[in-house]
Amino acid sequence: MLPFVIKKLFFYSYKRGMMKMFGCIFCQMAAHEKPAKIVYEDEHCIVIQDINPKAPVHLLVIPRKHITSLNENLEDDKTLLGHLMIVVGRMAKEQGIDGTGYRTVINTNAEAGQTVFHLHIHILGGRIFHWPPG
Ligand code: AMP
Ligand code: ZN
Repeated sequence: MLPFVIKKLFFYSYKRGMMKMFGCIFCQMAAHEKPAKIVYEDEHCIVIQDINPKAPVHLLVIPRKHITSLNENLEDDKTLLGHLMIVVGRMAKEQGIDGTGYRTVINTNAEAGQTVFHLHIHILGGRIFHWPPG
């Protein structure tokens, strides 16, 4: 059991180190090493304004932990994922878009349009959205 835990700890600190070395922009923002318009933060996540907004309200909910995408094994991250959802609802209320409506998006990999490979939830609101999405 102990060697397994040590291995896992080593793996995660290695991965975090590599991410810093190769510059995951959202890791750096979460660590306050890169400027970002942070509208909310707690011990598990930050929420920033998207630099290239696609709607009057366009926020990104970003876990502090580096998770590449929903394709990762997230069995150990259920509490974190639940927390992110709760923060989404809280942000929507704070931005005043909970009543009119808002869209949440998680892009995974190239064909879905993922450009930053650190999991994040888009919150878009303040205009009408169509379905199906483009
Ligand atoms: P995705 O394409 O789903 O991976 O989303 C990445 C989002 O991050 C895009 O909407 C970008 O506009 C946004 N983004 C990229 N760089 C920054 C930055 N420096 N500050 C804020 N948002 C950013
Ligand atoms: Zn990252």
